[in-house]
Amino acid sequence: MTAEPLTLRQALLESRIRLSSCSDSPAIDAEWLWSHALRRSRVWLMAHSEWLLTPAEQARGESLVSRRQEGYSVAHLCGECEFLDFSVRLTPQVLVPRPETELLAEQALRGLPRRARILEWGTGSGVLALALALARPDCRILALDQSRTAIKLAQSNALRLRLTNIRFMQGDWRCRWPGSTFDLILANPPYVALHDPHLQSPGVCREPRHALVAPVRGTQAIRILAVKARRHVHRRTRLLLEHGADQGDVCRKIVERAGWGRSKTLADLPGLPRACLASH
Ligand code: GLN
Repeated sequence: MTAEPLTLRQALLESRIRLSSCSDSPAIDAEWLWSHALRRSRVWLMAHSEWLLTPAEQARGESLVSRRQEGYSVAHLCGECEFLDFSVRLTPQVLVPRPETELLAEQALRGLPRRARILEWGTGSGVLALALALARPDCRILALDQSRTAIKLAQSNALRLRLTNIRFMQGDWRCRWPGSTFDLILANPPYVALHDPHLQSPGVCREPRHALVAPVRGTQAIRILAVKARRHVHRRTRLLLEHGADQGDVCRKIVERAGWGRSKTLADLPGLPRACLASH
């Protein structure tokens, strides 16, 4: 005997209940997941609550909801997310872009000279480089990442947005940066400490560790970058780094010790210290 087909309304309700223990936004998550399973917009979902799910649709939706319960983020399950005013494809090999990283993009665009040369370290899905390239077609951006799959993904995101002013390159923190100097060097480096309980939270627990965690209480990548970037400065070069909400002071100390002249901490929208901007 086959089970009665579910209506979309019933499926959304059941999913919302299943997701309430693992998500802060179970209703919205359920809508995104079912919209992805049915390949329809969320608006369509709202207008078709009595839609009878086919067995294939039901299986696809339920499997997505189960994966969400296992800790995968909605963005990873749907394979895409929005950043500022554009959207990108995502895979589980890269971080889901965070709202605090939008701050970095906005800051980076402030006072950027014409035809600026920019280096982004650890580009992941490419969102930072893409945001700069979209806003400033006159600039040339070099985006690096140690992961070949991340570079491939970022490249395909750039292609979808028809951007031609970004060059992508695979290389870890030891690789030589091509180009003598840059006007702006920026990164959202790994900065979470190894035993931070945040790493166990839903979504984060399924993200690539190497993009999140750094030794020395989360500061090692910041240290390496601050020092390495000094070899590529001219008089007006700026360094812009995202960091943890409790790393404002330590990050300024690190960049100043590396030889950067002036540095300041920038706050995100909720007012938490989130980025360090340093100049020559
Ligand atoms: N802000 C991220 C988080 O909350 C961490 C990102 C990073 O380490 N670069 O998980």
